[in-house]
Amino acid sequence: MEEWLANPKISKFDAGGRLVTPGLIDPHTHPIFAGERCEEFDLKAQGRSYLEIHKAGGGIQSTVNATRAASKDQLVDNGSLQFDRLLRWGITTIEAKSGYALTVDGELRLLKVLQQLDGCHAIDVMPSLLGAHTIPLEHKGDRESYIRQIIEQMIPQAAAEKLAQFCDAYCEDGAFSTDEVARIFDAAKKHGLKLRLHAEQFTDQGGSVLAAKMGATSVDHLEAISAESIRALGESETVAVLLPGAALTCKSAMPPASELFAAGIPVALGTDLNPGSSMTASLPLMMSLACMQMGFSCDQAWQAVTRVAAQSLARPDIGHLGKSAIADLAIFDAPDYRYIPYHYGENHCSAVIKRGRVVFG
Ligand SMILES: [Zn+2]
Repeated sequence: MEEWLANPKISKFDAGGRLVTPGLIDPHTHPIFAGERCEEFDLKAQGRSYLEIHKAGGGIQSTVNATRAASKDQLVDNGSLQFDRLLRWGITTIEAKSGYALTVDGELRLLKVLQQLDGCHAIDVMPSLLGAHTIPLEHKGDRESYIRQIIEQMIPQAAAEKLAQFCDAYCEDGAFSTDEVARIFDAAKKHGLKLRLHAEQFTDQGGSVLAAKMGATSVDHLEAISAESIRALGESETVAVLLPGAALTCKSAMPPASELFAAGIPVALGTDLNPGSSMTASLPLMMSLACMQMGFSCDQAWQAVTRVAAQSLARPDIGHLGKSAIADLAIFDAPDYRYIPYHYGENHCSAVIKRGRVVFG
């Protein structure tokens, strides 16, 4: 190990009989924010619902207030901390969203923080503009003016400055309707952004059907997806990204993975790392939840954080160990690939190699 670190030109690396896998890919994170929400976590623990807290002005808006007040350096420092946490679990690529500023300049600022971290941290970032996360407090009486800002300013500027590869939105009661998402996605496509959507987290609003019809790369959450929506999704190329950490925190039922698999839908897993509904960087814990609570086999759980997660990011060069893949590897102190989801809650990752260089361990 030390010899390899001292001389990065050495192309042989002895993993000493440990488990070597493709670097893990987290296809759904919200890592750029300020402030913690311990108090809200405690309220949820005592029975208050996510939507109740959200509608009372808590939830996303409280992180928006803290994030707006933070300096760029504070956001970079906190983002870097989140990236370090992710890397230690064997994660080499993440999708990462803006979404905690909800003004034109603020959202672009968050995307620039992501760009800076992508340049200086070992983890690779696939950035998404999530201006349509929630309607900010100052636009509550006039949501149309905020939606126009997203369509006429945020999307064109983020695309022109190459700050985002994806446009994301939150389609839910209390957030954005399918009609609003359709207008936002039309603008995003026109500016060359690919699409992802937070859909059917608490209620089935038809978001995943709309997103699939519009050619979205992924639809994420799906805890409350109906049988009809699953059928429609099964006829598309769209990947389902499931987020068991959010279901666990919000005390929701787990997404119906078995039905999604049965409909032939490719299924990925993400941490949904965010300060409100899923404060974890552990993708292996999501694999454990998928196996223990959602009917995944260990093989399906591994595919969901490697090959299928890569598919959900339109990245054929990562998530596998073939010749066409870049050398992103995670090394685990484990005798068997099933050991990782089986020994849940523990970190077995002992080294991470990013583009052929040891970056952790
Ligand atoms: Zn999310």
